[in-house]
Amino acid sequence: MVAENGTEKTNQEETNNVLKSTQTVIHKALEKLGYPEEVYELLKEPLRMMTVKIPIRMDDGSIKIFTGHRAQHNDAVGPTKGGIRFHPGVTETEVKALSIWMSLKCGIVDLPYGGGKGGIVCDPRDMSFRELERLSRGYVRAISQIVGPTKDIPAPDVFTNSQIMAWMMDEYSRIDEFNSPGFITGKPLVLGGSHGRDSATAKGVTICIREAAKKKGIQIEGARVVVQGFGNAGSYLSKFMHDAGAKVVGISDAYGALYDPNGLDIDYLLDRRDSFGTVTKLFNNTISNKELLELECDILVPAAIENQITKDNAHDIRAKIVVEAANGPTTLEATEILTDRGILLVPDVLASAGGVTVSYFEWVQNNQGYYWSEEEVEEKLEKIMVKSFNSIYDTAQTRRVDMRLAAYMVGVRKMAEASRFRGWI
Ligand code: GLU
Repeated sequence: MVAENGTEKTNQEETNNVLKSTQTVIHKALEKLGYPEEVYELLKEPLRMMTVKIPIRMDDGSIKIFTGHRAQHNDAVGPTKGGIRFHPGVTETEVKALSIWMSLKCGIVDLPYGGGKGGIVCDPRDMSFRELERLSRGYVRAISQIVGPTKDIPAPDVFTNSQIMAWMMDEYSRIDEFNSPGFITGKPLVLGGSHGRDSATAKGVTICIREAAKKKGIQIEGARVVVQGFGNAGSYLSKFMHDAGAKVVGISDAYGALYDPNGLDIDYLLDRRDSFGTVTKLFNNTISNKELLELECDILVPAAIENQITKDNAHDIRAKIVVEAANGPTTLEATEILTDRGILLVPDVLASAGGVTVSYFEWVQNNQGYYWSEEEVEEKLEKIMVKSFNSIYDTAQTRRVDMRLAAYMVGVRKMAEASRFRGWI
């Protein structure tokens, strides 16, 4: 099983800050665009939030009650869309913030969706295959009224994968009494999944790295790359950078980090990695995640969890470009410090939008019942990511704002306009 994103845990205070920072940047972006305050009032929280209790019979015969959430941020543009994470650190606030980021991502890559997000408080690392199946099906039954191919379309996220999507699709199809592949994306190919979905987030990040490197005059060939997190995004990305001739000098998982100034043997590490992206436990001479982030390199890619680059370590980052493959790895204070230091920061809502872009392709293919080749998917993703990167880069230059604010400005615009045309504000 391959999990969609990175690992580790975040605490309540950190997630509250994550939501607050998102709201702060949305407010700034709307102000810059000249929208009145009520637009902010509409967009600062999800339109809908559902919390459910899911009773599951465990393998030992006991019953355990799990808590799940689903947030639907804004559906003015179209149905909401976004992943489901299985993680012990999931909170209502985190799911809310993540749904807002999904809206921004969809706005940035110009998809006909708003943002949604789901999460179940659980630790899949301690659960059996069958327990996970029962939990996945139970969650779909609990939220079935508010989701659907034209309402809200889930996908993988932290610690969920194509097998979990398959169970969820099957459960929804039974409830709907129709085969409904368009209910969820990130499915296995044989159930209507799309070519290129598994590696889509990393492909999008790779395109952003290439475009950012051009702006900074850095050659990818021989560039030193550090990747924090070896989940879906981090592992594929390390492979793509390695294959493009870059030197991946550092990688990490939830338990530690590996460093080799001559470049790590990425193929070996991929081979030894477990389904949750863990690999460093096999080595003795590891370094800490903190040391990893402060390594001298050309490109640093935080691909794990929130709040990794903060005001405490932003001054010690020695990369020329930081590309956020994870959701929310850099705080607002740190964004300012990095930007002031001349480091080009490519924000999460742009860099990680490749995943939802190919999810959209998957949904389109499901709706039309006609499937595309891998080349077609790649070509379409490439076009969208290059265009989105450049429109945000240009906005940052012309409006003299950092890349994060520029991305939010591009991301909220369509949502705000659609809400206005619908007569909501
Ligand atoms: N979970 C991914 C994200 O955060 C993908 C969402 C999707 O494909 O709908 O962007």
